[in-house]
Amino acid sequence: MAGFASMGVREIQVGLASKDFSAREVAQAALERIAKCDDEVHAYLEVTEELALQAADQIDEALASGKSPAEIGPIAGVPIAFKDNMNLKGTHTTCSSRMLESYVSPYTATCVARAIQAGGIPLGKLNMDEFAFGSSTETSAFGRTHNPWDLERVPGGSSGGSAAAVAAGLATVTLGSDTGGSIRQPGSFTGTVAVKPTYGVVSRYGIVAFGSSLDQVGPFARSVEDAALTLNAISGHDPLDCTSQPVDTDFTANLAEGAKGMRVGFVPAFMEAQGLEPEVKAIVEQAAKHLADAGAELVEVELPNAQAAMSAYYVLGPCEAFSNLSRFDSVRYGYCDPGHKDLGSQYEASRANGFGPEARRRIMLGSYLLSAGVYDKYYYPAQQVRTLITADYTRAYEKCDVILAPVSPRTAFKFGEISDPTSMYLSDMFTISINIAGNGGMSLPAGLGADTHLPVGVQLIGPQFKDENMFRAAAALEQVYGKAPLAPAFA
Ligand code: GLN
Repeated sequence: MAGFASMGVREIQVGLASKDFSAREVAQAALERIAKCDDEVHAYLEVTEELALQAADQIDEALASGKSPAEIGPIAGVPIAFKDNMNLKGTHTTCSSRMLESYVSPYTATCVARAIQAGGIPLGKLNMDEFAFGSSTETSAFGRTHNPWDLERVPGGSSGGSAAAVAAGLATVTLGSDTGGSIRQPGSFTGTVAVKPTYGVVSRYGIVAFGSSLDQVGPFARSVEDAALTLNAISGHDPLDCTSQPVDTDFTANLAEGAKGMRVGFVPAFMEAQGLEPEVKAIVEQAAKHLADAGAELVEVELPNAQAAMSAYYVLGPCEAFSNLSRFDSVRYGYCDPGHKDLGSQYEASRANGFGPEARRRIMLGSYLLSAGVYDKYYYPAQQVRTLITADYTRAYEKCDVILAPVSPRTAFKFGEISDPTSMYLSDMFTISINIAGNGGMSLPAGLGADTHLPVGVQLIGPQFKDENMFRAAAALEQVYGKAPLAPAFA
């Protein structure tokens, strides 16, 4: 079937309803395109052909029995793929780590199960930074993913495979996870709509945990509506994750309302931040103007403690990661280094050889930060900073409905260009405070940078559990920018 790659959810569903094509044909077209193009992109770690065709056949049966696509589910017949930290029974879940190279999921994550339940056609598992530590997907043990806009450049990370797959039309929508920016930054680098919902909107059950108090799953798509439909499919309370909330929001409900009357917060300190590239700044300012032209009221807001978010994150994140990753002990889970006579040396060698350098750095940092005497100096103050940042956001939303900000200080960089960890960490200077506070944030493609001619996203940040606000503002901006195109080399 021709033209699958550029189709959105509605177009697929109209085609299915009018019998222009079957769900099996959609699945086959997607699989063929992956076979043809993914050598260049390397978004996929595993392609689940059999599962895809099975799911497609079920949809075709439901259609034949007289059901409409919408009755089958919000993403019926839509090719979808999952970051490789999400369990899907019978497939590998490697987290792009040697540690889990041979791990096969015995069960399915709630968000993945819901996506398939909602009619998604599961295409496979997507590359990422090892255990989601990183901003470039370069730390994957299984090779790097290329940015479809420029194959010499990174797609961002850690959900780089999820972003690249959508930008290259190797899936209609994908799921990623975001602990400090891992959905939004690759969204910005690849020109895709990339949503990190409020903490608690999507169940984390079955996602390999990095920072349990920060991790949140969300969609990538080439339109705001497709992202909203996907979030509709995966959100809501799950008895298997006590931090998930009874959210039954229809995220598509106010997409047509426009920005008229919305109060859009603007944070002057963000725009003065060191390292923010002029071409990115210009695009954020232009987006503010577009929102104002559409009838929104721009208001200045302050987040006085947000500049401490990075420091707090690199305490809290490693502490939680250290605790979560202790389960990969070569006995219960994970790579087991052969030939050791005692348990101590088996543990040591397995963890030293199973984890890559960035994962080891985070684990050691977390171990140190939680040790006696050190805990009071770092962990405790970081939690206090967390409270202050959360209060900043609460105060800001007394004055506005959504905040407009940069996503990343720059556009996609070249492989190997950023080699020291601290510079890499700065990729998330505008995204981390949102995870710390628990709010929702999304990256909306807002054109190409004037200097690099690469995609730039603008960030819309909503109040907690009012993610529909950011969707509304994003839809208003999409009216101006148009839907996200496929990367030119893949169009
Ligand atoms: N880049 C950040 C980090 O390395 C965020 C990662 C993420 O959101 N998973 O921790």
